[in-house]
Amino acid sequence: MLTYLILTVPHAVCDITNSNKNHTCDFLAPKSAHKINELWRQIFPDTKIFLIYGDINRKLVDLNRQQKPMPRFHQKLHNIFTKIQTSHILLWDIHSFPYGSFGKTSSKEEPWLVILYRKKYSWIKLLIDALQKKGYPCKAVLGDRSNYIIQTAHQHYNIPSILLEFNENLSDNQLHLLVFKLINITSELMK
Ligand SMILES: [Zn+2]
Repeated sequence: MLTYLILTVPHAVCDITNSNKNHTCDFLAPKSAHKINELWRQIFPDTKIFLIYGDINRKLVDLNRQQKPMPRFHQKLHNIFTKIQTSHILLWDIHSFPYGSFGKTSSKEEPWLVILYRKKYSWIKLLIDALQKKGYPCKAVLGDRSNYIIQTAHQHYNIPSILLEFNENLSDNQLHLLVFKLINITSELMK
């Protein structure tokens, strides 16, 4: 089982003066990360989980991009990266997307979850297939190379990292079921 799980939520801070249309924050991402944290702890209490929420609105500073001077959020992340060096580690960068942003799944449904990844981890495809088979619409997309969190974890620390985009329209129950399945399948694949 995993020794460490790092959960990052860079777009956690909403700007209440701004309309929801611009999506300058990820509305469901903090809740999704909280749910992952809660369920993972219940299922695998031995995994140490780091959960880091962004502390500034995306319009001011996008924490998924390299920034100078280095924001506190990135400093925290580097501190964690340098402290933990182990092979049993995983980073999930958590986001959420407005309905329709990622098109349809292979089964022509609105995805509940989209996984963006840079390197072709063979287990991502297995993860997507397993979720689809269980009736959870999802898809994988090759992600952009400019994601600072994923890039840094990959390149400088050799930590397997993927970006998870949850559909903003998921109900509490849908989120719960999806996260539960996601954790179970991931842990099976990472054995
Ligand atoms: Zn985001």
